[in-house]
Amino acid sequence: MNNDIKMGKYILAKSIEEALNALDKYGEKARVMAGSTDLLPLMRRTGRESEYLVDITAIGKLSYIKQDGEVIKIGALATHSDVNESPVVKKGAFVLAEACGMVGSPQIRNRGTLAGNIMNASPAADTAVALIALGAEAKITSKKGERIEKIESIFLGPGKTTLNSKELITELRFRALYPGEGSAFCKLAKRKGMAISIVNAAAFLSLDESRAVCRDARIAVGSVAPTPVRVKSAEDILTGQELGENMIEKASLAARDEVKPIDDIRGGAGYRREMTKVLISSAIRAATERAQRGNNHE
Ligand SMILES: Cc1cc2nc3c(=O)[nH]c(=O)nc-3n(C[C@H](O)[C@H](O)[C@H](O)COP(=O)(O)OP(=O)(O)OC[C@H]3O[C@@H](n4cnc5c(N)ncnc54)[C@H](O)[C@@H]3O)c2cc1C
Repeated sequence: MNNDIKMGKYILAKSIEEALNALDKYGEKARVMAGSTDLLPLMRRTGRESEYLVDITAIGKLSYIKQDGEVIKIGALATHSDVNESPVVKKGAFVLAEACGMVGSPQIRNRGTLAGNIMNASPAADTAVALIALGAEAKITSKKGERIEKIESIFLGPGKTTLNSKELITELRFRALYPGEGSAFCKLAKRKGMAISIVNAAAFLSLDESRAVCRDARIAVGSVAPTPVRVKSAEDILTGQELGENMIEKASLAARDEVKPIDDIRGGAGYRREMTKVLISSAIRAATERAQRGNNHE
């Protein structure tokens, strides 16, 4: 462990434009700083410095959480606490409020942002599976303009994303759930707080008018592959079927067989596979109950 952080040149961006100018000018030499809950520990651990640190936390207008028609929009500086406490998110995307409520500790949740959680690209990132289950997209901005990318396709591997060094995530967005849709997040870790997921899982289900048959499903799981992943085998089993214990068992068994975890200090591959089944069945069950109750709330 190296406790000396070699700080690069610090740039406090007061607007998106100032941040993009700095990223455009310094490219690979620059690094975005948001809550710094991943960045500073990384710099301390590795002693690695970036020549230019572009702090975006003074861009006040990026902290919003709002609903625009059917779409919930979350600015890049919204923290886990902001999202966990947001009435808009609790009502329209409970899975994300749940996931944000299980990140780290209150201190980490008060500083850490969802965009930072995505850009850190940990296979265990808690908000990633929730956002994938919601079918969320990121608005990615650079001097060249804007592009939209699905969260599930942003991850390339641990610490690696499709964004280049001149790009900034400015917003995360997804459709709010309708009545008859439900979502849920489950996490297994060594402790209840301050612990990285051994496995995490999120489910989104859309039921038909009878509230018995699954019309659409998105299931995501983390910490079982180099990136958070969607488990299509489980989704295919549920779609078009009446939801009951039998179907939930079949879907979670298929997920167990689809994932390819590794052994590491937090858990063995076999344990992770079995826990994938347990967590996915819990998430599907909770999402089903919420959808059948007619709202997405707890
Ligand atoms: C004690 C502790 C406990 C933790 N527990 C959890 C946990 O339970 N679950 C979990 O998922 N994570 C956990 N984390 C990890 C971390 O808190 C989250 O990943 C957090 O959301 C990161 O956000 P941040 O704003 O602090 O990112 P930063 O540290 O500021 O940045 C992280 C990375 O993202 C880049 N970045 C940040 N914002 C943007 C942007 N808008 N556009 C482009 N690039 C950007 C940075 O350049 C950097 O590479 C924990 C961390 C600590 C230290």
